[in-house]
Amino acid sequence: MLISLVVPVFNEQETINTFYQAVRSDHFLQQKDVEIIFVNDGSCDETASIIQQLTLTDSLVRLINFSRNFGKEPALFCGLEHSRGDIVVPLDVDLQDPIELIETMYLKWEEGAELVLAKRGDRSSDHWLKRVTANWFYKLHNVLSHSKIEENVGDFRLMDRRVVDIVITLQEKNLFMKGLLSWPGFNPEIVEYKRPERIAGTTKFNGLKLLNLAIEGITNFSTTPLKLASYIGFAISFLSIFYGSTIIIQKLFFSIDVPGYASLMTVMVFMGGIQLITIGILGEYVGRIYTEVKGRPRYVIHSQKNIETSQSDPQPISKIG
Ligand code: UDP
Ligand code: MG
Repeated sequence: MLISLVVPVFNEQETINTFYQAVRSDHFLQQKDVEIIFVNDGSCDETASIIQQLTLTDSLVRLINFSRNFGKEPALFCGLEHSRGDIVVPLDVDLQDPIELIETMYLKWEEGAELVLAKRGDRSSDHWLKRVTANWFYKLHNVLSHSKIEENVGDFRLMDRRVVDIVITLQEKNLFMKGLLSWPGFNPEIVEYKRPERIAGTTKFNGLKLLNLAIEGITNFSTTPLKLASYIGFAISFLSIFYGSTIIIQKLFFSIDVPGYASLMTVMVFMGGIQLITIGILGEYVGRIYTEVKGRPRYVIHSQKNIETSQSDPQPISKIG
């Protein structure tokens, strides 16, 4: 019985040792075989060497170094592909995903749950703007998309091997992990927790990155925005028939000249806005089709430590050490 912890890291030299100590001193995890798969997402600080040091003394610490920063989503996917555990838990290295919760999730798994989600009951450690926008995102995503995601659940969850094996067969290159991890379904159980502050270092996700992730999430799991464009188009065309007819009738039969400038400007600006938004929505999808058809790999591995490679695994392009 092996538990895999999948930990993407990017410039995390301040947090790795604390994280490692927390895992290895956790009372529950000490009784289990626990592999820690660090996916180093192109860090430019001491992250790689600190983890490499750990791999020398602990053969269950595994390290995959990417050739550059590919982003958290590809790093997490790569960690899942290389995990060997009967159960797999993706988590952040900054201890914002509390390690003590793994025992609670594990007990649910023993009772038969194949997927146990860790839900942030209290997000008071997040900035208010992040809380509000996150809330909007979950609502919007679930209205638009057929495959629902649980509100306030990040990547932190416990997955049975069956679920992981399904997730890693998904082919897309544009990754939105929250959505992909929920896609197989499997009636998840939920455990709540209070999200603590980051132990050290700074967040790697600024506003723009989060906005892009949100757009990724919606466009990857729903085509409803495309339909909305057609619905709005139809509605406006329909209304314009009435409006146009009214103007013609007023002019022909009642000789009322409609003062043109204000109404023309309003319609023009409004229609211009709608058209640009629609082109933008189309662009989001076309751009994603473009990256998908190019079929480039999701990430490039530079080197790895304590990773057993089978023939189907991606081979590192070069090895160090
Ligand atoms: N991370 C990563 N690649 C990136 C950005 C972040 O692997 O390009 C990792 C980071 O090291 C951390 C996790 O993803 O382990 C979550 O990042 P962070 O704590 O900055 O996000 P937040 O908790 O603020 O949403
Ligand atoms: Mg964090």
